[in-house]
Amino acid sequence: MRIAVVGSGYVGLVAAACFAELGHEVISIDNDTSKIEMLQRGEVPIHEEFLPELLQRHRGKQLQFSSELPEAVRKSQAIFIAVGTPSTVHGDADLSYVEQVSREVAGAIDGYKIVVEKSTVPVFTSHWIRRVMLLDGADADSFDVASNPEFLREGTAVGDFLYPDRIVVGADTERCATLLRQIYEPLTSGEYYNRADIIPNTTKAKTPPQIIVTSTKSAELIKHASNAFLATKISFINAVANICEAVGADIKEVCQGIGTDSRIGTRFLNPGIGYGGSCFPKDLKAFSSVARETGYDFRLLQEVMSINADQRARFLRKVRSALWTLKGKKLAVLGLAFKGGTDDIRESPAIEIVRSLLKEGCEIRAFDPAACDRSREVLTEDGICYKASAYEAAHQADAMLILTDWPEFAQLDLPRLKTVMTYPIIIDGRNLYDPRTMAAAGFIYSSVGRADVQTPVARTNGKAEKTATAAPGKNQ
Ligand code: NAD
Repeated sequence: MRIAVVGSGYVGLVAAACFAELGHEVISIDNDTSKIEMLQRGEVPIHEEFLPELLQRHRGKQLQFSSELPEAVRKSQAIFIAVGTPSTVHGDADLSYVEQVSREVAGAIDGYKIVVEKSTVPVFTSHWIRRVMLLDGADADSFDVASNPEFLREGTAVGDFLYPDRIVVGADTERCATLLRQIYEPLTSGEYYNRADIIPNTTKAKTPPQIIVTSTKSAELIKHASNAFLATKISFINAVANICEAVGADIKEVCQGIGTDSRIGTRFLNPGIGYGGSCFPKDLKAFSSVARETGYDFRLLQEVMSINADQRARFLRKVRSALWTLKGKKLAVLGLAFKGGTDDIRESPAIEIVRSLLKEGCEIRAFDPAACDRSREVLTEDGICYKASAYEAAHQADAMLILTDWPEFAQLDLPRLKTVMTYPIIIDGRNLYDPRTMAAAGFIYSSVGRADVQTPVARTNGKAEKTATAAPGKNQ
């Protein structure tokens, strides 16, 4: 199949590379010419596991990069739209990029093609795309609009694309559904998993995914409802974690007890500093706005968003509670990306927390394995510098904050850390450590939904002996 993917960001670039991996001839389009030139030179603009390997494998063969949308449309049977759909000031989805692409596609269409929404869009978007394309001169029989929502997670995007739980296709004509079935056939038939050179996935079985064919409206709703449900799960467990703190229970034990119920499951039951990223915050607002437009007040979503915002404020109170005053405190910050495995800092809770601490006069020494360059662009305030490792960030720090769940942050050399820090205080927004381990290592340790470790620690600095004590009280 000849495919054009419009938008070469986190979703579009991964989709284009994976479609090429499945044997299709793909053109990855972006109107950001510098990004396209980068890709043509062989550079990889985002941090994503296995993406460099896929680009290397297919660049210049199955996969081309271009800014010439009309030419790509003419060469393709399927055009996937994967441009951004950010929030407007009112909270609904800004569909102007989708509209612009639809108009450009309409101007170039020269035979039957399918136009597929890969971007996350509100219900009825496919109808709007069809309408603008007709108004812009596309012949009614020359195209169908379909919805094929993307469920990949940043950090494991390639694995998620090639080993999906399911593929959702919203198509209102059989002709269109058939083309989409053909595109995904290497996965749904299991053919891809029998190849010798496949991209490995250690967490997923090589089981062919089912394809769920629905109406376009249902597919659009499936994506918004999925993200809203996952965000609800996160806010739910954060609320339970807050009760655990109040009564002295342990959220990890509670999560295990809840999550082993097969009706509930353990995933997305990790308490922390709240969800972030380019999807959940905007998609919840957009879904809430869709509901409002239909006359339904989806109050649950308001509460999910409010718990999420509160979780960051609670974490800042924990920092204050551990350090007493903040002005002039030197804080090591581990993690700036909105989650581990990615360089994406859009709506990252870590960035928001760092910003608040800078406002309070803290000195921040930050380390993130992938997101420092992007953070430099947005955190323009004085008082922050970037370090090359967790230990460099921790050097002479009054405390360390863990804000992103990078796996390497869960494997720090605790004795080494204790030696380099001024005070052995860690406030962990991601629950990466067992409090008992921290107590044994001599740290004052505060996490989410579990009792604080308040060990008084005697330390020698060569001249005098001083005692570090945590502020009294609980995590609030
Ligand atoms: P992104 O910002 O990384 O990429 C969007 C790309 O589209 C950019 O490179 C931009 O230059 C390009 N673009 C914008 N207008 C264009 C135009 N007229 N012509 C050509 N290119 C154009 O965004 P993303 O994270 O890839 O998200 C894209 C969509 O996918 C959004 O709707 C998002 O909600 C959805 N989505 C994202 C994820 C995720 O984890 N990032 C997961 C599932 C779905």
